[in-house]
Amino acid sequence: MSCFSEYRDIVQEGELVLLWVSRDNIRPVVMDHKETFNTRYGSFAHADIIGKPYGSQIGVMTKSSNKFGFVHVLQPTPELWTHSLPHRTQIVYTPDSSYIMQRLNCGPRSVVIEAGTGSGSFSHAFARSVQKVYSYEFHEVRYQQAFKEFEDHGLLRENVTLTHRDVCQDGFTIKDGDTTSMPLQEREPTAEIGATAIFLDLPAPWDAIPHLSKVIAQEGKVGLCCFSPCIEQVDKTLEVMEKHGWINVQMVEIQGRRYESRRQMVRTLDDALNRLRDIKRRKLEGTERRQRALEAVGPEAVAEEMARVRAVTEKSKFNPFGKGSRVKEGDEHYTWKQVTKVEAEIKSHTSYLTFAFKVMDRTRDSDKVDKILASING
Ligand code: SAM
Repeated sequence: MSCFSEYRDIVQEGELVLLWVSRDNIRPVVMDHKETFNTRYGSFAHADIIGKPYGSQIGVMTKSSNKFGFVHVLQPTPELWTHSLPHRTQIVYTPDSSYIMQRLNCGPRSVVIEAGTGSGSFSHAFARSVQKVYSYEFHEVRYQQAFKEFEDHGLLRENVTLTHRDVCQDGFTIKDGDTTSMPLQEREPTAEIGATAIFLDLPAPWDAIPHLSKVIAQEGKVGLCCFSPCIEQVDKTLEVMEKHGWINVQMVEIQGRRYESRRQMVRTLDDALNRLRDIKRRKLEGTERRQRALEAVGPEAVAEEMARVRAVTEKSKFNPFGKGSRVKEGDEHYTWKQVTKVEAEIKSHTSYLTFAFKVMDRTRDSDKVDKILASING
């Protein structure tokens, strides 16, 4: 089974784990009891991680500064992998991949075509959710890197077929003699694909679209999504989609934002007036104190007088506009309103998503319709 789809409790030797150092620093590491994972927060021996439950915090004291450093040990998921994978290309991030899968109706019975494979970010997400993924990559080194990675992660054993291919030129049909992870016996003479969903992350998707009719499912509705960074590409894609019978075309752009919700104190005009009165009173007290100190004789008397005045000056009360004693957010003695703040950055790709659908067989199956009607009518 793939280490991305099975659930495990305890970290074992040889397993891929994701070490969470911080939100922007998640590192994939294969456990080897002889190795150490080094960070600026300390060095973590793999032997101290192996045998611990997933989710554990692993801590060390640094020798030099005598400070406590820690990491969390997490089981790989496609979402965490997207954050930690080695980038070989631009990748598709989770806000986009989750939306695309939902729009393409992906589920456990879906058969997906994906081109190009790139860094394999989306391939991992597809692999967890669908029955079968056919992924294509024409760059030889990237194909080999993806092959090794998918093999290590158990994806090729489970439900992913990776093929070295220029899909714009040669289409998607897998034949005997192709460079592919597909076992020989499944290839001859040509592999039936029957894709129910297609995702094209290519510079020229319009050259690949004409090849799709040979490999999509002949029954039911098939979904297609093209991921393109510029509107001229979208325009060219639309033209070819329409020409080849793809309908219900829609273009979408994902703008990922993370909102932080919190309460903000409601401040009134009286609050502002009280604040101004407080400033005036304190100013007056300061002037009087300085005067009394000057009138006194000798430095000792000055210090004594200053200490006496400081003791009688009350501590700054709550100030809704800045300095002063602090109030806990939500304190029931004050009025609050709910507000949100946009967090600075969320990783998402600013590309346009063009969706379209196709139904190959439009004949009416009367028996099927009768059965459905009968089941509805009880
Ligand atoms: N979706 C991928 C991910 O989430 O990691 C990233 C895909 S990357 C942006 C595009 C990939 O398509 C590149 O690796 C490129 O080599 C590959 N590619 C470009 N044209 C291709 C073609 N005609 N056939 C197959 N692969 C192609």
